[in-house]
Amino acid sequence: MFIAPPAAGKGTQAELIVEKYHIPHISTGDILREISKEDSEIGKYIYETVASGNLVKDEITYQLIEERLSREDCKNGYIIDGFPRNLEQAKEYDKILKRLGYDIGIVILISIDEKSLEKRIVGRRLCEDCGAIYNINEKENAPQIESICDICGGKLFQRADDNIESFQTRYKTYIEKTEPIIKYYKEKKVLKEIDGNDTIENIFRKIENIISVGEKNDYD
Ligand code: AMP
Repeated sequence: MFIAPPAAGKGTQAELIVEKYHIPHISTGDILREISKEDSEIGKYIYETVASGNLVKDEITYQLIEERLSREDCKNGYIIDGFPRNLEQAKEYDKILKRLGYDIGIVILISIDEKSLEKRIVGRRLCEDCGAIYNINEKENAPQIESICDICGGKLFQRADDNIESFQTRYKTYIEKTEPIIKYYKEKKVLKEIDGNDTIENIFRKIENIISVGEKNDYD
């Protein structure tokens, strides 16, 4: 599981894990963004809530997560990113895991300061076809041609909530609602912390190490 503030690099690291370990990446943000495209009441509700930077109702996420995790491809492990987002969801996740017979696994916290995140948010671009993530303000992460994906040639877009105003709401929500789950997982002794102010390669190396060692006990 990844816990991190918005734009800390969870999505990028998840892509690298998928490539190396061949396990699925389950992101509630991605699932919700897909549903938000639907021309329905729920689609509209999700679009507006996500764009504002607030959290969607807990109950919506429970159904999505349990259905997704119960599929065959999750039986050998998965990366979960964006869920749980508050203490209620963390407790519900315990119940979902119990019903599915899964272990909590390793929880990785990517820490990074607010100013760096703000800078990243405004430059972040995603490929609408393959989901690759770029940053036009970071030389090493910029696409070769602005607005075109290096990997598949797809068009790059900016997320509706990647603006300063939504970021401030998302960051505040993270501090108020998501940070309490860090304590919850520290107490369960499954949490490992990584400094997110580092290169993509260095962060991934640390994640590989955590996975291979399988250490779970950072806060004794
Ligand atoms: P993310 O892609 O993880 O940054 O999520 C984008 C947005 O999706 C969030 O700001 C929320 O509006 C919504 N979202 C994602 N995961 C959850 C969740 N577990 N609970 C409630 N809302 C969520």
